[in-house]
Formats: sequence, structure tokens, C-alpha cells
Amino acid sequence: MIIYGGKAVHLKSERSKKTTCPSCGTQGSLILSVYRMHAHIFWIPLFPTVKRGTSQCQHCKNILKTKEMPESLKRECESLKNNTKGPIWQFAGLGIIAVLITWGIYADGEDKKLEYIASPQVGDIYEYKIEIGSYSTLKVIDVSNDSVFVSPNEYEINRKSKINRINTPKNYSKSSYGISKNELKKMYDSGEIFDINR
Ligand SMILES: [Zn+2]
Repeated sequence: MIIYGGKAVHLKSERSKKTTCPSCGTQGSLILSVYRMHAHIFWIPLFPTVKRGTSQCQHCKNILKTKEMPESLKRECESLKNNTKGPIWQFAGLGIIAVLITWGIYADGEDKKLEYIASPQVGDIYEYKIEIGSYSTLKVIDVSNDSVFVSPNEYEINRKSKINRINTPKNYSKSSYGISKNELKKMYDSGEIFDINR
């Protein structure tokens, strides 16, 4: 069973300065309160929806919804709503969803990389770390049962994020060497190879 719905969180209450109670005529007896609603699911707040306002007379206890308020009280209520912020935790569910999606995309990317390492293809580009601050690429030019043959990039770059700049065909060496698939897996697991482009 999915339990969802709306819930109101009290933000602020303030005594009305101008308006007399339309029910009993007492002055200065109206307390305005604003609430922010949020949608929730399984009691976790998802995201805020609307702000609502009510007033109650301290004298006759009469409660007014916004649409029942006299104009001057409505305006006071609007200004109280506009000047009151709701708590950030009303976004908790959206935050959780964003984290899960980001994590899902990341996990999916990691799965793909593992798959590429386990079954290399000609044309795969391995991005690898020579040492900290020095990165380069290897291009797979042949694959046998237990090894891959790579052509090293003759250039290196000092920033991981800019590695694509050196990944052009003319940068790759004419010579090549073999790496066993076991060794390749170790290079990936240790983080020496940090990305694979296919
Ligand atoms: Zn009253």
C-alpha cells in the first residue's frame, strides 16, 4: 500500500495590526498563521506545494480561511506568506530522488566499464594515469584470447578532465604492445585505468 498525501507545516503566526474581527468586532484579536503544504509519500516529505493562511480570533475563537477574510486581512496574510520561508526539509524526498538517480547513472557507468574491460574491442580507448598530474590514453588495435594489443598515445596531459584533447588518431604511436587481460583488469581495479571510451 502506497501512503501519500499532503501535509501542512506551520511557518509563522502574527497578530493582525489593522483588522478587527468580522465576527465579534474586537480589535487586535486576530492571529494570522501561515502554513506550507508538502506532498509526502511514506511520511517522507517530497516537495512543498502551496502556502495557506488562516486566522483565529483570540476573543471569539472564530477561524477564517483565506477566502473568508476581509480584504485588509487577506492583504496582511499575503504579505506574511511572501515574507516567510518554508523549511528546506520539505524538499527531502526530491533530494533523495536526485541522489538515487545520480547514483544509478554512476553505477550504470561503472557496470559498463567493467563490461568493456572484461571483453575488449578494437578501437576501445583506455584513459590511464601515468602518475599524479600526468595522464594519457591507450588505443586497442587488436584483441586475442588472453591479451589486448594497444598503441600508446605519444602525448600526455596534466589534467584528467582535459584528456580528450590529446585523443586524436595522429597522436597514437605506430608501435604497439600486448597487455594480458588479467593485467588489464588489475590496472582497472587499481584505478590506473580510470575510464574506457567505446
Ligand atoms: Zn472575534
